[in-house]
Amino acid sequence: MADVYDAIVIGGGSGGSGFSKRAAGYGKKVAILEMGAQWENGKRKSPGAGGTCVNVGCVPKKIMFFAAAHREMMVGNVSTAKGFGYEVPDAAGSFDWAAVKARRDAYVARLNTGYSAGWEKAGCDVIEGMGTFVDAAADSVTVKVQLKDGGEKTLTGKSAVVAVGGLPSYPDIPGIEHSISSDGFFELETQPKKVAVVGAGYIAVELAGILHALGSETHLFFRGDTVMRRGFDPFIVDTLMEAMRHHGPVLHAKSTPKGISKEADGTMKYAFVQDGVDSELAGFDCILMAIGRKPVTDRLSLDKVGVEMTAEGLIKVDEFENTTAPTKNIFAIGDCNTNGYELTPVAIAAGRRLADRILCNEPRARIAYEQIATVVFSHPPIGTIGLTEPDAIKEFGEANVKVKQSRFGSMLYAFNDDDSKVKTGLKLVMKLPEERIVGLHMIGPSSDEMLQGFAIAVRMGATRADFEASVAIHPTISEEMVTFSGWGQETAADGSVRPQLPPYLQK
Ligand code: NAP
Repeated sequence: MADVYDAIVIGGGSGGSGFSKRAAGYGKKVAILEMGAQWENGKRKSPGAGGTCVNVGCVPKKIMFFAAAHREMMVGNVSTAKGFGYEVPDAAGSFDWAAVKARRDAYVARLNTGYSAGWEKAGCDVIEGMGTFVDAAADSVTVKVQLKDGGEKTLTGKSAVVAVGGLPSYPDIPGIEHSISSDGFFELETQPKKVAVVGAGYIAVELAGILHALGSETHLFFRGDTVMRRGFDPFIVDTLMEAMRHHGPVLHAKSTPKGISKEADGTMKYAFVQDGVDSELAGFDCILMAIGRKPVTDRLSLDKVGVEMTAEGLIKVDEFENTTAPTKNIFAIGDCNTNGYELTPVAIAAGRRLADRILCNEPRARIAYEQIATVVFSHPPIGTIGLTEPDAIKEFGEANVKVKQSRFGSMLYAFNDDDSKVKTGLKLVMKLPEERIVGLHMIGPSSDEMLQGFAIAVRMGATRADFEASVAIHPTISEEMVTFSGWGQETAADGSVRPQLPPYLQK
């Protein structure tokens, strides 16, 4: 007789792991299906236990970000070490890519092993293989597993959770096989000398920034006037573009990919259309595509259980992660669903809340998608939560929105020329009349670490008065967020200054 599980989880990434451990913690019987790392035609088909984040995403990326930050302080036009009294020898900027890769791979391998061990320790059955749906009824779902070691197994569960994540997308252009994606970036054995990064989102901006800061000649190609066109406040995007123009990769705006060709000397030529004109650039030893990701839902036979997908393959869900399965016991979480966030903490939280709801009798449990904090590890990093100014105006009307923002060079750059300072930009978007903070945006050194605390305040409905009531921590960058109005006074639109009562005296 087949095993009967409370839940069969397909995919051992952030979401699947979050759900499984929580469910097992409730004493439920959970099977977690994970294919393990797999390659096909030299490209990754599956990242392995822990998913994209641990293996080919957030974790190894952050290690490279730190590596880049060390070099950035020592050499280049925004370096600060000399100003603070260090003698920086000529060789200071030479970076041992192979050594860092070896340490990074070992670090990731440890985490990777820890994932499977953690599931087992929590009491889950870990099954290495690929699951496909067979059929479903109101109280049972049947999943066939193609085992990694060969053979098949059939599982029966009271419910199933799809958490299969996604893989990088590639544009359909000739020669695309010569390019790599973010997956391939983490397999590079040597540092590229001249690299083209194509894309305009998180991955393109982060990896182009890292490669540039590590000393590779880096070219960033994007279709619009700017990168990060979706979901980021224009003030933040402007500040990022200014930083990149001054001390970032070479920017190629308004360019769409056309083709890649291999040259006799082994380098690559990248052809693109810029502003309607055919153009090309040669001599690349690496071309990295970062134009978005697509869900890997095509192998699941979702049609057999009535789960609908969008044309892009995203599983349609509501805000409780319910799919359209008529049996009402199939759910989807993380990057593969239509909730619109491809972020590890979102997937983990969605998984835990789903377990709370379906296995611990808490019908209200769901992740609140309304205000998700996010950080881009750009150079400099961006932190953001809530509405952009244009979105706030759309939602509340211009007369009901107030903004405070400032851009400055922080004390880290005290001894740099004006042209060599990385600017910090901070912005609050408030809803009137209560001045509730509905959007908080920052860019600049340490924004990645500053956001988490502010995110709590924003989620709790903090107003500007609450921010001002928290006495500044000096000298820091974050203090500027709570001192926008000049320590107890406010400048009106006509330039006049009036005293501002302390929050506890305001109505
Ligand atoms: P992304 O952030 O969705 O950005 C991809 C961008 O590439 C698109 O917005 C589009 O920008 C551009 N693009 C799309 N098709 C293109 C084409 N055919 N040619 C040229 N450009 C094209 O995707 P991503 O950078 O690949 O990252 C995937 C997801 O991973 C992100 O959405 C994010 O949620 C997650 N992620 C998060 C972090 C983090 O939390 N720090 C880090 C990395 C990734 P335009 O329309 O402006 O051209």
